[in-house]
Amino acid sequence: MKVFVQILRTLKLCNFETLKPYNTFVAKDDLFDVLIIGAGPTGLACAIEAQRAGLKAVSIDKGCLVNSLFHYPATMTFFTTPELLEIGDIPFSSPNQKPTRQEALEYYRRVAEHYHLRVHQYQCVDKVTGADGDFQIHTTDLHRRAREYRARKLVIATGYYGLPNLLNIPGEDLPKVFHYYREPHPYFDCDVVVIGGKNSAAIAALELWRHGARVTLVHRGPGVEPHVKYWIKPDVENRIKAGQITAFFNASVTAIEMDEVVLNTPDGERRLANDFVFAMTGYHPDFTFLRNLGVELRSQPGGVDDPEVEDVSPVYDPQTLESNVSGLYLAGVIVAGSRTSEIFIENGRFHGKQIADDMRRKLRK
Ligand SMILES: Cc1cc2nc3c(=O)[nH]c(=O)nc-3n(C[C@H](O)[C@H](O)[C@H](O)COP(=O)(O)OP(=O)(O)OC[C@H]3O[C@@H](n4cnc5c(N)ncnc54)[C@H](O)[C@@H]3O)c2cc1C
Repeated sequence: MKVFVQILRTLKLCNFETLKPYNTFVAKDDLFDVLIIGAGPTGLACAIEAQRAGLKAVSIDKGCLVNSLFHYPATMTFFTTPELLEIGDIPFSSPNQKPTRQEALEYYRRVAEHYHLRVHQYQCVDKVTGADGDFQIHTTDLHRRAREYRARKLVIATGYYGLPNLLNIPGEDLPKVFHYYREPHPYFDCDVVVIGGKNSAAIAALELWRHGARVTLVHRGPGVEPHVKYWIKPDVENRIKAGQITAFFNASVTAIEMDEVVLNTPDGERRLANDFVFAMTGYHPDFTFLRNLGVELRSQPGGVDDPEVEDVSPVYDPQTLESNVSGLYLAGVIVAGSRTSEIFIENGRFHGKQIADDMRRKLRK
């Protein structure tokens, strides 16, 4: 059968790739040229460029297509204009100057369909064994079934949105504490504390207040962070000035209890009545995952984004994005290590071409 398909392909009588179901089960011995871990915007761009380079590629994601974007606040708009989110030369047209999450989800679905990308969703990559030329990739699906893939080259495009920066305070594990903000409706007429002073915290505080929550913003810095987007910063600052949102700066939450939160403020300890807490304190890449793959990580105290978090960066070749592990490439925001605000879709989308050029050269050899 394989030979028959090969003959048809050679004669260009039938493109069997397009006839395969979208989520094809991969047999244990199926060998890919490239396996990409993560089907975010960067992972998809890598898959497109690998395909363009004539390589057989597959993307594996623990969630859905562009899983991180799917989990962003439901009504969010991007900070970026649509053309800067484009991959694979597919135009992203939107009537809005800044596209919505909904439009972006539709756009990336369309791109995946257009290129017939093999995206295997809902499979978490747990472990990688083997080496350059023959990596074995071990996954677990939603039903806890183990699967194994084999690939000559590997791209890690796992982003940073899966792991929140924890506060490590008592009560953080209570069910009323969230590290992701989705939508405001459930918090109507509730006392909500939002922790953080960057874009995510400011956006959540504003939306919650506009939908009837009593909002207190708590940030350890002296005010809303200076780099908060120019259309959000004055909005939240004016709500604070007007007393519509209460804010505690140079303050931190030291404990979360069932009906209260405890704050450490410049004026001493404060206790606030509280129903829900949104800890919008950022996210970080899964460094343990990288370490287990053999990727060398360099660290120094005091990160740029957060002086209290260690500044961790992976070792890689800036020309090719190949890590210290031969045949293993890094793509997207993960390249920046803990400096997660240095690489985003706008610039990470070009990593695919860099990587595909190098892989093609090396695989030809
Ligand atoms: C609220 C918000 C607004 C933003 N707005 C903008 C903007 O306007 N413009 C812009 O350019 N950037 C923006 N960003 C940043 C941008 O979304 C990220 O930088 C971008 O998603 C990074 O792309 P990526 O492909 O590297 O990672 P991701 O999009 O995070 O993709 C990583 C993928 O890897 C998967 N994954 C992780 N671990 C595994 C595993 N072990 N096995 C299988 N799959 C795994 C995840 O499920 C995920 O789908 C915003 C971010 C946030 C949080």
